[in-house]
Amino acid sequence: MNNNDRKFGGRFIDIFLISTIASLIVLIIIFTTANNLHKAQNVSASNPTVNEPGTVNPIEPDISSTVTQEIMNTNIEGIRIVNETLKDPTKPYLIQSIKTNFEPINTAINKYISDSKTQYENIIRLKDKIEPNDSSKNLLNNLNISVEISTHQDQYISLIFTKNIAIRSNQSDTTIYTLFFNNKTGEIINLQKILNGDVKSLTSLSESVRSSILKNPAYEKHINTESLTKVTEPKWNYFQRFSIKDNSLVFYFNKGEIANNSIGIPTTTIPLSSIYKQLAAEFQKGIKDGSIVTTPPPTKDTSSSKKVALTFDDGPHPTITMEILDLLDKYNAKATFFVVGNRIDRYSDVLIETFERGHEIGNHTWNHTNLTTISTNQVKEQLSSTNNAIKKAIGQYPTVFRPPYGAKNNQVVSVIELPVIMWTIDTLDWKYRNASNLLPMVKKSMHNNAIILMHDIHQSTADGLESVLKYLQEQGYEFVTVSEILQYK
Ligand code: ZN
Repeated sequence: MNNNDRKFGGRFIDIFLISTIASLIVLIIIFTTANNLHKAQNVSASNPTVNEPGTVNPIEPDISSTVTQEIMNTNIEGIRIVNETLKDPTKPYLIQSIKTNFEPINTAINKYISDSKTQYENIIRLKDKIEPNDSSKNLLNNLNISVEISTHQDQYISLIFTKNIAIRSNQSDTTIYTLFFNNKTGEIINLQKILNGDVKSLTSLSESVRSSILKNPAYEKHINTESLTKVTEPKWNYFQRFSIKDNSLVFYFNKGEIANNSIGIPTTTIPLSSIYKQLAAEFQKGIKDGSIVTTPPPTKDTSSSKKVALTFDDGPHPTITMEILDLLDKYNAKATFFVVGNRIDRYSDVLIETFERGHEIGNHTWNHTNLTTISTNQVKEQLSSTNNAIKKAIGQYPTVFRPPYGAKNNQVVSVIELPVIMWTIDTLDWKYRNASNLLPMVKKSMHNNAIILMHDIHQSTADGLESVLKYLQEQGYEFVTVSEILQYK
C-alpha cells in the first residue's frame, strides 16, 4: 500500500465517519419527531378512563391527570355507585356511575360513560382548533355525570343519568340517559316490553305525554310544539328515556329538545294506573286499574285482606264466557281463564275481551289431551301451539298452565316452562251442571288464598256464579288472578 493509497484510505474513513454521524443525527431527529408525533397523537386520543382505579395517564405523569375512583355500596342488592374524578385542568371531569351484578348492564353503562368522555374530548379538541388563542382556553371545561336510582316493586331498577358538558363557558349542555332493568334477572327492559309491544298503546301514550307536557303550567309558553310533536311520534325508539318512579312512568327530554333552555330538563309523569290495561302482566302487579296506589303492594307478612282466585277452564265460549266477564266486572273481580288452543281462532274476540278486561290468560293445551298419555314431543307441541295461538290473539303469551283433568307426572312437568296451576277447591260444576249447587260447593271448603276450579262452557256455572261472587265479597274476599295468589302463598 503506498502513501497515496493510505491518504485515500484515510480520507475515505473520514468521509465514512462524517456520513455515519450525519446519518445518526438524521435518525435521531426522525426518531424524536416521530416520537413527538406519536406523543401528540397519544395526547389527543388519550383516554384517561382506563377502568382500573387510580390509573395514571402515561403521557402526563402530573398528579392532576390521575384518575381517582371511589366505590360505594348502596342498600340495593348488588348495586354500587362508582365516583370517578379527573382533576386535569384542561379536561376535568366528575363522573358518577353504577356497577351491577349483571355484565350486559355494566357494559351498557360503561359504553355510555366512555362515549361521553370521547364526546367531551372531541368538543374540546374542536374548540382548541377553532380558537387556539382564546384567552379563556382551559378555564371552564367540565364534564359532570350524575346518576339517580329509583326502585319499583323491589326488583325493577331505573337509573337516570344526567350529563352536563360545559366548554369554556358557564352554559352547559344537559342530556339524559336512562336504563331500566330487572335486578333479579339482569334483563334490560324497554318500553316496548312494558306495553306488550302494542303500537296502539304507544300511540295513546304518546298523546298522553304531549298533552301532559302542554298542560303543565311551568312549561307554559316555553314549549316548541313542533319539536314536541316530532320527538313524541309513536315510535318505540323515541321513548327510550324513561324511568318508573312512585308507580308512574316518567319520560325525560334533553335540555332544549322541546322547549327553550330556561326550563331545564322537561319531564312528564304518567301514572301506571292510568294505562293499567296496556301494561304487561308483570307491571300490573300492585297497580290498581284507574287509581294510583300510593302504598307499596302488600307482602305475605303484611297482607291482612283475604284473597281468592277464581279460575275458569275449557273456554273461550262465545256466550257463557261473555256472561261471566260481565258478572266479574260487576263485582270488580279479576279471574284466570285457562283456554283450549283449538278454540282460540274461532273465539279470538272473546279471548281478547277477556284479556282486555284485565283477567289472566292460561294455557290448557291444544285439544284438552291427557298429557300423561302422549310423548314428550307431543306435550311440547300441545303447549307451544296453544302459547302461539294466545300470543297471536292478545299479543302476549300466557302466564300460567293447567293440565286437563289435572293429569300430570314428573315427565310432563319437566317440559312445561310455565307455572303449573292446580286448584284447592273443585266445584264439580261439570258434573252437577246445577246452578244452585255452585255456592254450596264453594262454601263447604272455602279458605284464604283458595284457587277455585270452574268451567266457562257450562251455562249452569254462569248462572250460579253471582251467588258465589256475592257471598265471597260479603266474606271480605278480594278476587285476584292465580299469579297474584301465588305471590301470597
Ligand atoms: Zn279442562
